[in-house]
Amino acid sequence: MSDGKNAIKLNYDTGWEYAAAPESTDHININDRYELFIDGKFTAPKSGAYFDTINPANEKTLASVAQASKADVNRAVKAARGAYDNVWSKMKAAERGKYIYRIARIIQERAREFAVIESMDGGKPIREARDVDIPLAAAHFFYYAGWADKLDYAFPQKTPKPLGVAGQIIPWNFPLLMAAWKIAPALACGNTVVLKPAETTPLTALKLAEVIQAADLPPGVVNIITGDGSTGAAIVDHDDIDKVAFTGSTDVGRIIQRALAGTDKKYTLELGGKAANIIFEDAPIDQAVEGIVNAIFFNQGHVCCAGSRLLVQESVAKEVITKLKERMQTLVVGDPLDKNTDIGAINSAAQLERINDYLALGQKEGAEMYQAGGKTPKKGYWCQPTLFTDVAQSHRVVREEIFGPVLAIQTFRTLDEAVSKANNTQYGLSGGVWTDKGAKIFKVGQNIRAGVIWANTFNKFDPTSPFGGYKESGVGREGGLHGLSAYVNLH
Ligand code: NAP
Ligand code: MG
Repeated sequence: MSDGKNAIKLNYDTGWEYAAAPESTDHININDRYELFIDGKFTAPKSGAYFDTINPANEKTLASVAQASKADVNRAVKAARGAYDNVWSKMKAAERGKYIYRIARIIQERAREFAVIESMDGGKPIREARDVDIPLAAAHFFYYAGWADKLDYAFPQKTPKPLGVAGQIIPWNFPLLMAAWKIAPALACGNTVVLKPAETTPLTALKLAEVIQAADLPPGVVNIITGDGSTGAAIVDHDDIDKVAFTGSTDVGRIIQRALAGTDKKYTLELGGKAANIIFEDAPIDQAVEGIVNAIFFNQGHVCCAGSRLLVQESVAKEVITKLKERMQTLVVGDPLDKNTDIGAINSAAQLERINDYLALGQKEGAEMYQAGGKTPKKGYWCQPTLFTDVAQSHRVVREEIFGPVLAIQTFRTLDEAVSKANNTQYGLSGGVWTDKGAKIFKVGQNIRAGVIWANTFNKFDPTSPFGGYKESGVGREGGLHGLSAYVNLH
């Protein structure tokens, strides 16, 4: 590392290295303790129990956070029901829209603070939190604010009516963005909300509660309660919830679907993925290599739609793998708050253990493992970007979602073989195709059974675009017009 005097200096072992460029933390404010946000106020949990959220890059405690019990879930649902019956469902749609615009604008104003806290609480590189998570979260609020008074146009010849109280449960990989995906369309359609962030990343949701207070939203319209899986289960099971929106693992998705069977609650589930990124021999190879890096190493591979399987045409496989390995050697793994960092900290000790189990398993299954090497900090949870070659379709590292920076590489000869390998999975959330030929893009796009297919790019998001899975990747769609229909009854 440089002494900081020069922006860049030559390291004769590894080539060029950047000087440290840490984002400052002196402008942020994290309380020692956070209560539950119910009925417009921060209120202590009935049980008096709290848990810590840590910074996975240094294992230091950031804050103590309230553990919501069943009694607290009851309070939150009651507040949401009261706000729905008395205020929110009766308010003129254009007025509802104004509140949502206000939330969007305050997030933009406080974007830097949100980005730093997101990076500290979850381990993601500040560059991503700053350029992806926070701007997209604001964009979702802006987008759905615009729909609030135009629902009749969204559903012509129907009379869209809100569902009531939505229970929303989100994961740790895109904490604020997932909250925005869930809260913005619910509010635009006239529903009220009880939202639970993940245990390891509750802070930006609690900051969002502050924004909601600052936006002067009527009390009870949005309630944010922290806790573990039992809190999530209590939301799902609550009799007075009309709709459940869940993003997380397929295993928990199954538990929720079972709990909801036979009830009249509506639900959407965004679950796991094992996307194939297909590189044809006529693809621009250097761009494709960047695309692969973006598809699987982005956000430490903590991405449900990550391109965790690479399918590369046999004739260019050697070139692609060589270039990919060279590129991996230049990826910076380390301090998430450093603006040069490409791969930050793994979200938790448990997730790192899970990834390491898969690294051991892949080798045991007979695959060839490649890691770029390089130093990682002593404290914290880290995983070097990893490739598996010589894999078979039956290998678990090819079939199962690892949720880390780990790529399994297979080859193919024909388009049909690529499509059939891409579809040989229980999942169907996303996919990618890299080629010079538009006809191949359409053919692959039409034949891959997945919710989103990127062509000559990967991991691009926009609030106007629906997102969701086929098969075990989920039920329903979020985003765009489709995302509205998940929060209305149509008569
Ligand atoms: P998860 O266990 O499915 O958790 C997602 C959310 O559900 C969290 O808020 C979690 O709370 C809550 N929850 C846990 N058990 C619940 C239950 N029985 N009923 C209702 N809610 C419950 O996922 P995770 O622990 O965050 O990650 C585990 C795996 O899920 C990952 O390794 C990955 O494979 C997958 N994952 C997928 C996505 C995606 O976007 N598709 C995102 C994250 C993770 P706690 O946080 O308190 O446990
Ligand atoms: Mg944390």
